[in-house]
Amino acid sequence: MAYDTDNVFAKILREEIPCKKIFESEHALAFHDVAPSAPVHILVIPKGPYHSYADFMTNAKSEEILDFFRTVQTVAHGQGVGDAFRLITNNGEQVGQTVHHFHMHILGGKTLDKLVAD
Ligand code: 5GP
Repeated sequence: MAYDTDNVFAKILREEIPCKKIFESEHALAFHDVAPSAPVHILVIPKGPYHSYADFMTNAKSEEILDFFRTVQTVAHGQGVGDAFRLITNNGEQVGQTVHHFHMHILGGKTLDKLVAD
């Protein structure tokens, strides 16, 4: 899949549309999800053009990957959910990816349902 520069997170990175920014590092940006599924629902995205987690892990430089995951931890801690949070990334439309710029959801602030029913 080719990276689509018109996706909504690319537009946020270019500041063509606004976001509620929480934190920015050299290679990553964290902001509030526009339609939160929990009291804390943050998205962390790399600044580089990667359409999915698999694309990011395959093609990003080590420093981008390290910076990204450190940002996830910094933001989770800073939002007060450092001890109890859920990370989700949907890799592919079949499993629910709707925006084709890699993003990690950080969810917390309440008791969350099991991901998979018993
Ligand atoms: P996905 O379904 O691809 O895993 O997650 C995409 C997420 O992006 C959804 O949770 C959705 O609410 C969020 N989202 C979509 N458009 C925007 C937007 O314009 N701004 C922000 N902040 N979040 C968005």
